[in-house]
Amino acid sequence: MSEKRDYYEVLGVERNAEPAVIKKAYRKLAMKFHPDQNQGDSTAEAKFKEAAEAYDVLGTAEKKAQYDQFGHQAFSQGGGFQGQRFSNMEDIFSAFGDIFGGGGGGGGFGDIFGGGGGRRGGGRRGPRPGRDLRIVLDLTLEEIAKGVTRTVALKRFEHCEPCEGSGGEDGAKKITCSTCAGRGQVQRNQGFFTLASPCPTCRGEGQTIEKPCKTCSGSGKQQEKKEIEIRIPKGIEEGVQLRVTAQGDVGEKDAPRGDLYCVIREKQHKIFQRSGPDLMTEIPCAFSTLALGEKVEIPTLQSKVEMTIPAGTQTGKVLRLRGQGLPHMDSKGTGDLLVRVFIEVPTKLNDRQKELLREFADIEQESSGNKSFFEKIANYFS
Ligand SMILES: [Zn+2]
Ligand SMILES: [Zn+2]
Repeated sequence: MSEKRDYYEVLGVERNAEPAVIKKAYRKLAMKFHPDQNQGDSTAEAKFKEAAEAYDVLGTAEKKAQYDQFGHQAFSQGGGFQGQRFSNMEDIFSAFGDIFGGGGGGGGFGDIFGGGGGRRGGGRRGPRPGRDLRIVLDLTLEEIAKGVTRTVALKRFEHCEPCEGSGGEDGAKKITCSTCAGRGQVQRNQGFFTLASPCPTCRGEGQTIEKPCKTCSGSGKQQEKKEIEIRIPKGIEEGVQLRVTAQGDVGEKDAPRGDLYCVIREKQHKIFQRSGPDLMTEIPCAFSTLALGEKVEIPTLQSKVEMTIPAGTQTGKVLRLRGQGLPHMDSKGTGDLLVRVFIEVPTKLNDRQKELLREFADIEQESSGNKSFFEKIANYFS
């Protein structure tokens, strides 16, 4: 094994640094060497683990005192104190989740560091909060325009009724776990190393229930179907995650419920496309409509409005109808409806129409004075 670096050196703090300073230093390193930020970089991964190990010791008063006195020897084989060894990233996330202020709300790390445990206030033992749940809500543009209340059915864990969440038949008397003899960890030899992992029988608790409840097999929880009403504010955008507090799985006794996250997905509309608060559509027009100008009726999400097409409008022109879009998600006001007009060339003409068009073409040719094709193009662009 290679020489271990001094833990204070790893975190870059003074030996007399305050706990808050140590915590801050670790947080900074963890962010810098976070696996998401350094994918496939094994040096970063090693640094990430090294920092976690250093913080595990320096961030715990008792271990820090041992380390200050004996250095790394305090945690070597045979020493009084077993240092925390992180065999994988998940261990780190679940151990230090609270450092990163995991709790949704912007910081992308919340989810990762929450590691299925959500927010928690401290050590690895103690009641586990319920898991966050995630559902997808498909909304039409009409629903998004007005805002909507949806009732969704989902399966989530609730406290088991017969044992009232205790997990035990009568009063949930706890006994020392026979698998790990109460240590909460099991050790496994792999080559020269001994790896420690949480005990599978008691899930690291060190204790098991004497007579497990027959309904929930001792977990204290049961999956149930629930209907939850969710209010969706108007103007919401695709991909937004609405957080409904405390509607996730139930937690262990004295621990909070998880949250429910609703991921918004937009259903495709037959005639409108969305760009933020603006809506876009296209309407086919007769050549005469664009040439002469006309008032036309345009469908909106709610009903319809009148739009003036000015005389001489070119095909492909986008006309703006103010305030006929969607409400803004974060602020007051409403987006616009953008209407792109284009010429629809008729495929069937009767004799009268053909006669008129030929006459029109003749006059057009006269007025353009038999100019060449290239001259006409040059004129068009000038
Ligand atoms: Zn155990
Ligand atoms: Zn039960």
